[in-house]
Amino acid sequence: MPRVLIVEDERAIAESLEFALRRDGFEVAFAPTLRAAEAQLDSADLIVLDLMLPDGSGFDLLSRLRGSERRVPVIILTSRDEEADRVAGLEGGADDYVIKPFSPREVVARIRAVLRRAQPPRRLPASAAGRLSIDAGTRRCTYDGTPLDLTRTEFDLLHALASAPDRVFTRQQLIERIFGEGYAVTDRTIDAHIKALRRKLSAAGGDPELIETERGVGYRLRA
Ligand code: CA
Repeated sequence: MPRVLIVEDERAIAESLEFALRRDGFEVAFAPTLRAAEAQLDSADLIVLDLMLPDGSGFDLLSRLRGSERRVPVIILTSRDEEADRVAGLEGGADDYVIKPFSPREVVARIRAVLRRAQPPRRLPASAAGRLSIDAGTRRCTYDGTPLDLTRTEFDLLHALASAPDRVFTRQQLIERIFGEGYAVTDRTIDAHIKALRRKLSAAGGDPELIETERGVGYRLRA
């Protein structure tokens, strides 16, 4: 079973998560500090990372991990009022985030989803969200067989979201994927394209809320 490293200094939080993970058959390791985490990184299949730790910020560990060869998935733990941290976490390479206080069951479900996505071969974007079909080769997109007439940017946006269903993308990440780095596009541009996409989805008989807004963070395509 996968081994999850919980980097969290609040004992009660770490224990509730440990209990839920063990019940589901995961192996669990603990680290109450960044220092303790360093020693256990190599054996972890996934890291649940608190941001505020006694000897520093979880962000430091995240950026070290992302600068290294090994691509271990990371889920960050943030507080409800730390929206900026969520954005920074995702942009710093976290795979997902969980808001405290959380239900351990929800975290286990997120961990499963992230591990599934991290597995090679990666799920192909073509059939994300079930009834939505996206063909990157022909750049055609249909919902239940009804073609969606998308602009280039709308197609690229939907394709990016569908590359990791259920994952939240920040607006900046979407801009980089679609336009490339350093391109001067504002967040509002993305919002406008999302709005158009939802309208076209809806016109084809789909649920416009297939594309979910994660308030203050970005967007995700519901799996
Ligand atoms: Ca903490």
